[in-house]
Amino acid sequence: MKTLIKNGTVVTASDIYRGDILIEDEKVSAIGTSLALEADRTIEASDKYVLPGGIDVHTHLDMPFGGSTSADDFESGTIAAAHGGTTSIVDFAIQYKGQTLRQGWEAWMKKAEGKAAIDYGFHLIITDLPEKLEPEMDAMVREGVTSFKLFMAYRGVLMLDDGSIFRALLKAGENGGTICMHAENGDVIDVLVRRALAKGNTAPKYHALTRPPRAEAEATHRAICLAEIARVPIYIVHLSAAEALEKVAEARDRGLPAYAETCPQYLFLSYANYEEPGFDGAKYVMSPPLREKGNEEKLWRGLAGNDLQAVSTDHCPFCMKEQKELGRTDFSKIPNGAPGIETRMHLMHDGGVRTGRISLNRFVELTSTSPAKIFGLFPKKGTIAPGSDADVVVFDPEKKHTLSAKTHHMKVDYNPYEGREVTGAVETVLSRGKVIIENGKFTGKAGSGQFLKRKPRT
Ligand SMILES: [Zn+2]
Repeated sequence: MKTLIKNGTVVTASDIYRGDILIEDEKVSAIGTSLALEADRTIEASDKYVLPGGIDVHTHLDMPFGGSTSADDFESGTIAAAHGGTTSIVDFAIQYKGQTLRQGWEAWMKKAEGKAAIDYGFHLIITDLPEKLEPEMDAMVREGVTSFKLFMAYRGVLMLDDGSIFRALLKAGENGGTICMHAENGDVIDVLVRRALAKGNTAPKYHALTRPPRAEAEATHRAICLAEIARVPIYIVHLSAAEALEKVAEARDRGLPAYAETCPQYLFLSYANYEEPGFDGAKYVMSPPLREKGNEEKLWRGLAGNDLQAVSTDHCPFCMKEQKELGRTDFSKIPNGAPGIETRMHLMHDGGVRTGRISLNRFVELTSTSPAKIFGLFPKKGTIAPGSDADVVVFDPEKKHTLSAKTHHMKVDYNPYEGREVTGAVETVLSRGKVIIENGKFTGKAGSGQFLKRKPRT
């Protein structure tokens, strides 16, 4: 099967050129100008961008949290991702207390099997690391689960103590794994939450007011210090606060391999959203919370200047009805998370590229190339080059559309960007050479996504 994408503007992290791309079966096989080749199918892409498929390295599909489960499973979530121009995800498998690491991973493999419509890998969340389980981290790396997420918050549920975190870092130093950190000081937050509730402060906005930016900055700094002592890289997930970014920038200025991602919600929304009428603030209850206006300008600068290396979504949708509602009288019972897997590329193009905050190349780098490199997927994923998987997005930079729960494909009853008009739209999406989105319609198949066995750091 040969597919030819003709006359597009091909954009990678480093180049922009007018060209044709020949795809044979699942791979890009040739790139050139005016390729006079026979193909089974030709896609005309004049006046369109031809981009490497988006890679979202932070999603939570089918994830239990606080008595509820995130509303998208691997089928609806990956189809929504495809609509938004994302062709690979790295989701999080959870090892619960008392389980082996393999049990955690296998449970999530089952959730994805037969359902995922795009390729998927897993980070493993370690919630319990007795010394006897340490060698299993090596085994996971050999299976292609080459990154581990640890929590410095949610004591009694997900949080690890500093000693366990340090041992995991040391182990990753031996096996080439990467440690991803949820950096918030959980113990301080727990005290603030109990005090707020005791005073009768139960509204959604208190979720944000009990998770101060300093608690994120402190944990970010601590995580970086622990990694420095262990002499390993560290990747901070969903960085939200300018104060935390300062800690990453400081470390990078000293030459440390400190990396961090942020998410569109921290760039396009703010604390003000918690003040929306009634219980609507619950839509934005996520951790870390949305920050005061002004933080986003520093995050944009961090993205442009490479103190932040990736934009992921932390997609973890809960419906207002029956899910977010669990916390109507107590903000601490609102399931943490918001939808975003479908809107990332559109928002970053409209609010980042079109406003001049980041270049078109940087847009590709932040949403695809750099996450692929950090998490062991490059050059199979993350670029358009001969031999790479033919994960390709044909993107119309001038087409306008409106983000809305009425039209999105995520299985959740609200959209945090409801009514926002964006310029630029995903038109055609190929996943390993197969067209899975055509004129805004899903033409792929649930279950055709493959598990991504990722490479360790070298
Ligand atoms: Zn998350």
